[in-house]
Amino acid sequence: MTDDGIVTRRDLMAGVGLGLAAAGMPALAATPGRKLGYAIVGLGSYATKQIMPAFAGCDHAKISALVSGTPAKLEQFGAQYGVPKTHHYNYETFDRIADNPDIDAVYVILPNSMHAEYTIRAARAGKHVMCEKPMAISVAECEAMIAACRTAGKKLMIGYRSRFEPHNQLAIELARGGHVGPTRIITAEHGFPIRPGQWRLDKPLSGGGSLMDIGIYSLNAVRYLTGEEPVDVMAIESTDRSDPRFRTVEDRITFLLRFPSGIEATCVSSYSSAHNSYRVIGTQGWIDMEPATPYDGHSMRIRKDGKIIDRTLPPPPKTQFAAQLDHLAEALRKGTNVIVPGEEGLADLRVIEAVYRSAREGRRISLKA
Ligand code: NAD
Repeated sequence: MTDDGIVTRRDLMAGVGLGLAAAGMPALAATPGRKLGYAIVGLGSYATKQIMPAFAGCDHAKISALVSGTPAKLEQFGAQYGVPKTHHYNYETFDRIADNPDIDAVYVILPNSMHAEYTIRAARAGKHVMCEKPMAISVAECEAMIAACRTAGKKLMIGYRSRFEPHNQLAIELARGGHVGPTRIITAEHGFPIRPGQWRLDKPLSGGGSLMDIGIYSLNAVRYLTGEEPVDVMAIESTDRSDPRFRTVEDRITFLLRFPSGIEATCVSSYSSAHNSYRVIGTQGWIDMEPATPYDGHSMRIRKDGKIIDRTLPPPPKTQFAAQLDHLAEALRKGTNVIVPGEEGLADLRVIEAVYRSAREGRRISLKA
């Protein structure tokens, strides 16, 4: 802390001022019918094109406040979503959300290296937190975020939207239930050719390249399809450092994970080729998802007993974004746990750090505790 009492970023990571005792998780003292009010932090592409429009389909959540460094965006989106000026904040005034009872939760949709700071500040302001993936850029930051929310007695949920999408939910049920026999192998591939000139290519803001941004979908999918934590990892990275996009972050990174039951997963992460798929291969066939984790238009096929069938589902009544936003509201109202808490984000970051280390050191890295 500085002499004038300003809490620094380092203090935030160390949990200064948060106390050490872990508080319980009280249920939201909800007025019947009252919707959970979210403050949206960061009015960029994902916030304004996917998340904010999704509130129209929510039963239990609404936009209560907006946080942006750009006054014109506050003006524009404030008018569009009916958020009054009294509920507009910038990054300097952010902590004043503590005084606004209309804000129950904060949704952090900022560049990756800002997730930890705004999650911890939100918890200190007495708000629950939804934080985008990747949860943060290091294991240490994830741990500090979890500690801050626990100490404040607030819930922390990570924006793993695919867990609220029906094809992915069905794939989990089928894979874990042995529909094509016990799973032996999973392949998961995510990538896109990245455009130059954005924070994703600036390591201090992104924390890393394709793995932090898109490869994390391959990793998270193999974890949710198995329901297991990997025991070790082996990775190789291929990055053309003469390509101006990849001065500070990696392009492609491919990694092999082994799970306790003997399942092996091969995961592809790329900023120079287009993929969005996974395939779960069991002793009697496979479950194929392509695309697997898009915003919409999922497609599933299953091969079993020598026959291939299409298991693509009709569009759901509620989008994955709305279902994700409502999930936190329902967990607070019922006093239940969220299915993607901070610990899920932390588990991914543990593997991500090991993947980078394996690629750097050219050897297998153990993930056993
Ligand atoms: P974006 O660049 O479109 O938006 C980022 C926002 O942060 C902008 O409004 C920008 O003004 C603001 N910002 C504040 N300080 C900044 C700084 N120092 N540098 C750059 N921008 C700053 O990015 P995005 O695509 O909306 O991604 C935001 C977060 O959402 C990322 O963590 C990303 O991983 C995540 N995301 C998740 C999904 C998903 O499907 N779950 C999809 C896209 C993005």
